[in-house]
Amino acid sequence: MIFEGLSEKLQGTFKKLKGKGKLSEKDVKSAMREVKLALLEADVSYKVVKDFIKKVTERAVGHEVLESLTPGQQVIKIVNEELTNLMGNTQSKIMFSSKPPTIILLVGLQGAGKTTTGGKLGAQLKKLGKRPLLVACDVYRPAAIKQLHVVGEKLDIPVFSMGDKVSPVNIAKAGIEHGKKYGNDVVIIDTAGRLHIDERLMDELKDIKSEVRPHEIMLVVDAMTGQDAVNVADTFNSELGIDGIILTKLDGDTRGGAALSVRAVTGKPIKYIGMGEKLTDLEPFYPDRLASRILGMGDVLSLIEKAQASFDENKLKKLEKKIKTQDFNLEDFLDQLQQMKNMGPLNQILEMMPGVSNKHLKNLNVDEKELVHIEAIIQSMTPEERKNPSIIKGSRRKRIAKGSGTSVQAVNKLLKQFEQTKKMMKQLSGMGKGLKKGGKFK
Ligand code: GDP
Repeated sequence: MIFEGLSEKLQGTFKKLKGKGKLSEKDVKSAMREVKLALLEADVSYKVVKDFIKKVTERAVGHEVLESLTPGQQVIKIVNEELTNLMGNTQSKIMFSSKPPTIILLVGLQGAGKTTTGGKLGAQLKKLGKRPLLVACDVYRPAAIKQLHVVGEKLDIPVFSMGDKVSPVNIAKAGIEHGKKYGNDVVIIDTAGRLHIDERLMDELKDIKSEVRPHEIMLVVDAMTGQDAVNVADTFNSELGIDGIILTKLDGDTRGGAALSVRAVTGKPIKYIGMGEKLTDLEPFYPDRLASRILGMGDVLSLIEKAQASFDENKLKKLEKKIKTQDFNLEDFLDQLQQMKNMGPLNQILEMMPGVSNKHLKNLNVDEKELVHIEAIIQSMTPEERKNPSIIKGSRRKRIAKGSGTSVQAVNKLLKQFEQTKKMMKQLSGMGKGLKKGGKFK
């Protein structure tokens, strides 16, 4: 999992801070030394780390923080905000041209994942109601043209190619004309890569750029190469100028240095992340959500999106109503858990839940058995108890534990989890408006 080591170390550091009622400047500074080491070990570039620590420390040693009632929490809040800023603050979207087609030029080194990502991006845009066209300009690797056709066929996205005897500039221009003629409103141009950056590659890309004037030059880089990816991005940006970055293979990157440094070094945002080899494994990049995940604060919004894709529409509507009226009870919780099973592997889902750390995940060995226990516990409650869990005190807890074949601790744990979920729901209902605007939470 991405940020595994970093996440674990940061959470360890902050646990110590949270345990203290009062913080001194010395406490903050020693915590920051640990944060610094953790970031460096995650392969974040040195300068980025230095600036980051400076900013956080400046904010964290202020009176407001140190004298607050929850100084540890305040420091975590600051780290969360600064991590989010580091990665670009808000989500950066593709800028669609008001005069279609929008032309997207995909550039990057060989093997970074350009061709695959071209297909994935096409699929994402298609879902948004666009009509993409893929254009095969990699004339040096004959297999690349074929590969793009295969990807296009799988996704039912048209691919324009002219073999490998025509210059990439001419293919790109002809591809755009083709797109205009056939009503494609986005043209994604797959260009050739090299093993290393060389002058010829740059010259060719500059030619394409000046001839086709793309709306977006998107650099595809492999996250697993860490700081090399950041250097590649820096060079492409200064030589060619890029508008955004797609970071691929984040699923295989346990450190996360590229994700954390590339924006700060190049000034250009990560727009998408590749999370696997499947053509559906491309996600928009949300700095705030990733920061929360690193700090073990969960990623509730991604969770909701996943839920929306797999939950029963009617049940979701009912649930939304309950959340709004704060009427969410254990029966709904049970129902929700059962639907959660449809959402995919539990580990991936739990990773997005607030309070679940990597360590938990490892120890938990999340199995569906846990769900069976939870189901049994809730089913051992009376309808009244399910509706109003606050009445479940000592003797009731014992009875439920016995009835479900679990322990009082298990019952306690579930009730606590339920309270946390309820709290999360409450926060979410506050965000409801925003979601509605996006037309997602009908
Ligand atoms: P190109 O040379 O830049 O066009 O790279 P390709 O599209 O051919 O991809 C190179 C390899 O990386 C292929 O085996 C892809 O399946 C793989 N790949 C691309 N994106 C991802 C990703 O996000 N995660 C993983 N695990 N593999 C990826």
